[in-house]
Amino acid sequence: MLTQLAKGKRMAACAPVLAALVLMWLGQALGQAATHVIRKGETLGAIAKKYGVTASALASHNGISNPNRVKVGQKINIPAKSVSVTYTVRAGDTLSGIAKKHNTTTSTIARANGISDPRKLRPGQKLKITKGGSGSKPTKPKPAYIPADTLSKINRPRIRRGRWKHIVIHHSGDNTNSIQGMEHYHRRVRRMENGLAYHFVIGNGVNTGDGKIYVGDRWRRQIRGGHVASTALNEIAIGICLVGNFDKRVPTAKQRSSLKALVARLRARTGVPYKEVRTHRHINPKPTACPGRRFNLRSILNS
Ligand SMILES: [Zn+2]
Repeated sequence: MLTQLAKGKRMAACAPVLAALVLMWLGQALGQAATHVIRKGETLGAIAKKYGVTASALASHNGISNPNRVKVGQKINIPAKSVSVTYTVRAGDTLSGIAKKHNTTTSTIARANGISDPRKLRPGQKLKITKGGSGSKPTKPKPAYIPADTLSKINRPRIRRGRWKHIVIHHSGDNTNSIQGMEHYHRRVRRMENGLAYHFVIGNGVNTGDGKIYVGDRWRRQIRGGHVASTALNEIAIGICLVGNFDKRVPTAKQRSSLKALVARLRARTGVPYKEVRTHRHINPKPTACPGRRFNLRSILNS
């Protein structure tokens, strides 16, 4: 961030909170995944127990690398509870058909039942099947995904070879920041003739889309940023800003996966090496706390 921005007005919270509670209750009653907001003194283990899942399932479901570092107010998505059933094989059944019916995979059933050859099922055979929950399917990392319209904006500009040497990550400093607010601040208050100082902004779901990648005008025009305290560095550093204050909280799961995907795409386009993807703090000539002490760039890029 450039400097602390004025805090937005806080909305009266009662009605939305009540609505959210009702929705959560409905969601659970219907057997769907729920959200849990961490309260004081709660551990991931205690929350896991409450919802009948494991702490490690919770951690992996929420991209938490260190289960001991969860924070009061942090939102946790609860995976649907897994249910075990016993299925008796009927004539004509195939393992893949059974797997499909139970919303799981052939290999999961084969593993759980010690089946080495999936073709050798016999009628009457009992299979233990775990369906739903994060244990049902092999947990593979979600592929980096950028919507097609955003991707085309990222890919459109022609890039001169060797144009960019660094990718620098910032936070906006306030959870309520909007694109319009940041644009206004940079153009009118900071008097930057090219407006928004970053090439990209990744929203957090408050006044910006959660995980949405906003492609700035500076990227479209391939012009220098205004995000670090050095003209020479601004000339060769792509600026990405995540909305939020990561001294107080961690980026959302969608922000993390969008950042990872965006960095991968930009590196492929510009040839910036992994070690030159840096935080503002680590590259700035002057001391800065940006992007906050709860922001762990390497754990995001390596997740
Ligand atoms: Zn910054």
